[in-house]
Amino acid sequence: MPTYQYACTECGHQLEAVQSFSDDALTTCPECTGKLRKLFSAVGVVFKGSGWAHKEQSTKPALAAPKQATGESAPAAAPVATPATTSAN
Ligand SMILES: [Zn+2]
Repeated sequence: MPTYQYACTECGHQLEAVQSFSDDALTTCPECTGKLRKLFSAVGVVFKGSGWAHKEQSTKPALAAPKQATGESAPAAAPVATPATTSAN
């Protein structure tokens, strides 16, 4: 089950919640009942990586890229990343 991170927009309180994809997202801060915002920490890493690899490919053949291309460090629970990378092409 994926772990979601939330941050309160009112008081800045942060929390993690383990939820399945069908669960409703949390919207209320347990500290101040303010509005919660979902954080996507894993996606930011993926976007950075693909941008770097793309730049490398235009200047060099795949010499510097293979470590990044294996997806070794890519988290398994990042369903948002796959459609985003394909649509960028
Ligand atoms: Zn709060």
